[in-house]
Amino acid sequence: MKRYTKCIFDEMAYYDRKPKKYLAYSGKVDKHGKPLPDIDKSLARLDDPEVIASLVPDDLKISAYLDKGDGKMKGMYGVSTDAGSIGFCKKMAGDRKKICSMCYSLKKMKGFKKKSRPAWKSNLKIFSKRIVPVEEWSQLDYVVPYVRIHPNGEVSDYKHYKSICNFIIMQYLTNSVSGTVGWFTKRKDLVAKYGKWNFDKYNVPEDFLQMTYSNWYFNKEATTGDIPTGFDRIFNVFEKDFAEENGIEINCGTKGECARCRECYKSSGWKVVNEQLKSGSKKI
Ligand code: SF4
Repeated sequence: MKRYTKCIFDEMAYYDRKPKKYLAYSGKVDKHGKPLPDIDKSLARLDDPEVIASLVPDDLKISAYLDKGDGKMKGMYGVSTDAGSIGFCKKMAGDRKKICSMCYSLKKMKGFKKKSRPAWKSNLKIFSKRIVPVEEWSQLDYVVPYVRIHPNGEVSDYKHYKSICNFIIMQYLTNSVSGTVGWFTKRKDLVAKYGKWNFDKYNVPEDFLQMTYSNWYFNKEATTGDIPTGFDRIFNVFEKDFAEENGIEINCGTKGECARCRECYKSSGWKVVNEQLKSGSKKI
């Protein structure tokens, strides 16, 4: 216990140089815009025997690779995996009626995101090799307002799914995400079965994670009644001509990029999000 007590004080003292470890975020920033810890809350957490027992030395902790978004995701952070190595993605991409047959991520990996692929492969391996427990995850190196799970890639299996839930829980417990986490997935089978897995056990509020179901099919209007079990909203994609001919209102993008819009990151956000297929999208 002594070791970690010392550790937390050291980190408070060196806060400017090395961002928080197990510090509670106060919701305030200093004059340079750096997040400030809530010292009372941090100490209360440190006194909790369960927290102490769960601490894993930093050098044994596991990190996921987080990258900055581009395009609509500019200014956001995301945890991606390699769609090219996931059986579910390959199967979906082979069906020409499904949106995955136009997978934007697979195209990006051949182009300007080529260099990210090793990191996304590494994330996939970490998430899916075994269920990584909450206490083994490291917190993010800095406080970020929002994190998106899988701007690229998808959940491969139940181990991957549960590891991500545990990763999210750790970020909540360490106040590494000051807003919420937005998870976009097509894996309605896993969401129906496991939901916000482990959240109860760690007292994580349900709305800390916003689950968006990515409609498998493009040009297929789905409404609130079609939101699958365990999801907060549904996300549809339409070709421009189809949307115009069928009077479908495209709302995604009308409030700017995700960092400004945030409709998919808040519990009061839109229940149905309609996006126009990116120009130049073609079957892969
Ligand atoms: S509706 Fe807003 S938050 Fe959701 S994907 Fe579109 S721009 Fe991003």
